[in-house]
Amino acid sequence: MVRATCRAAQAAAPAGVVRAHGETAWVPHPCHGRPVMKEVDLFVIGGGSGGVRAARIAAGHGARVALAESSRIGGTCVIRGCVPKKLMVLASRCSQEIDVATAFGWTVGERRFDWERLRSNIAAEVSRLEAAYTNGLLQAGVSVLYDRATLEDRGVVRLAGSGEAIRARRILIATGARPSTAEELPGAELASDSDAFFEWHLQPARVLVQGAGYIALELGCLLQRLGSQVTLVMRGTTVLRGFDNGLREHLQQALFETGMAIVPRCTVTGLTRHADGSIQAKLSDGSSAAFDAVLRATGRQPNTRELNLEQVGVATTASGAIVVDEWSQTSVAGVYAIGDVTARALLTPAAVREGHALADTLFGGRKVPVAHDLIPTAVFTTPEAATVGLGEEGAAARFGAIDVYEARFKPMKHAMSAQPGHMLIKVIVDRASDRVLGVHIVGPEAAEMIQLAGIALQMGATKAQFDAVLPVHPTAAEEIVTLRAPTRRHG
Ligand code: FAD
Ligand code: NDP
Repeated sequence: MVRATCRAAQAAAPAGVVRAHGETAWVPHPCHGRPVMKEVDLFVIGGGSGGVRAARIAAGHGARVALAESSRIGGTCVIRGCVPKKLMVLASRCSQEIDVATAFGWTVGERRFDWERLRSNIAAEVSRLEAAYTNGLLQAGVSVLYDRATLEDRGVVRLAGSGEAIRARRILIATGARPSTAEELPGAELASDSDAFFEWHLQPARVLVQGAGYIALELGCLLQRLGSQVTLVMRGTTVLRGFDNGLREHLQQALFETGMAIVPRCTVTGLTRHADGSIQAKLSDGSSAAFDAVLRATGRQPNTRELNLEQVGVATTASGAIVVDEWSQTSVAGVYAIGDVTARALLTPAAVREGHALADTLFGGRKVPVAHDLIPTAVFTTPEAATVGLGEEGAAARFGAIDVYEARFKPMKHAMSAQPGHMLIKVIVDRASDRVLGVHIVGPEAAEMIQLAGIALQMGATKAQFDAVLPVHPTAAEEIVTLRAPTRRHG
């Protein structure tokens, strides 16, 4: 039986607390005698952002909860996503900070960057967080099972490793997503996905990045700023499809100014290994070049394989995402799904909110809906790009008469240094109601700013209310409340 036996869980388990619903929850099966959990109120499959939150909150409401995790508690965000990524982004900004310091009168000695030291420090921080998450589950009384779980039947979960079956009054699928492998590519095995990226032992000198979404830009940009030469190949003309066009163009220019080579309207058609160990990449424009690493970041697909969903009758979309209603209820009564596996919004805060809301709804005595509009989000490039609400094009299509307010300026921090790049702040307003429909920012601390702009948009703030706020001076954020005349008008 595999129960909270991994080192992380043991390290995390506080003295005297093994599992709140420990041995009493397991009984010998009447036929084969192997232990079977009597019954739990909630069985959570997946110990990532969403699953951990749902399990912890449900247990806090008094439910008997078990959670199965096939890899490491913390999931994509903690182990191979947001956390290690953001730490690497912060590392990649240090060089720029040293340049700025020089303009501010500092003399700085020799610069040397140690990839392996950074990796090892990040690994330690990730393990600390993993232990903290595990500890939180155990302290809440959740039974943590290190195993792969599948749906056996309505109300029954089977653990693949131990073979045990567990009866569950409710089952929550929170299995997340994995890097997409949709496109066939000769030599694909030579390329890395984002999971493999976090395992790189050496910093590659020349990197080919395929894709122009969140992951391609974040990882490509941090590599470029850490000293690799990055070539970004994208099938479109501008990065970040779906974002405000002004933001996209501004960010693309900023990335270009970091020295990143950006190849639009192009795809990778084949990879081969050279005798010297480098990877030869053929591109659809007929060109070919050698790289030390190739990173593919072309989207993510839901982890619904091997869950036995079809047999149990849980409906999925063509791309494999689990279909749910606003209460995260699947097509089968008693089976729920949250987070990336539902492809509603592939963001940690969405998975966490959905998990919390579901636990409150099922066990907390109050129905809590989750709204998926007006989600503030940031792309952690340097400079950052952050957005909430509608872009200019989407707002014009939906509301017709809109006013666009824009400010472009050099951030004060860079005023005295040779750092290129201007900041963009853009506010979209519905002319009829004066309501602010969208805010888009490219520049330092854009992610921090958009979090607060998100509150204003959630409250339905008008442009007049933005203008009524006294600016904090001197800041970049003050531009959001000092935009006087529209730069453009639609309709
Ligand atoms: P996950 O966190 O993926 O957790 C699912 C868990 O289920 C995994 O631990 C998996 O091992 C386990 N599992 C799967 N199948 C089974 C099974 N059959 N049995 C048992 N366990 C199983 N989002 C942000 O908001 N901000 C960011 O900065 C950000 N950066 C990111 C950077 C990268 C490189 C990536 C890849 C993603 C990033 N994301 C970011 C997205 C974010 O990580 C996800 O949206 C979030 O982790 C989704 O949470 P989840 O609980 O749905 O799934
Ligand atoms: P995205 O959907 O953001 O981007 C995918 C990219 O791959 C797009 O540029 C897309 O091009 C391109 N692409 C897709 N298929 C192909 C193909 N067959 N050939 C060539 N290019 C292709 O996915 P990511 O993998 O970057 O990230 C997944 C999700 O994870 C994000 O959507 C986001 O929700 C989350 N995430 C969030 C982060 C954050 O909050 N900071 C950070 C990292 C991830 P096109 O635009 O033309 O379709």
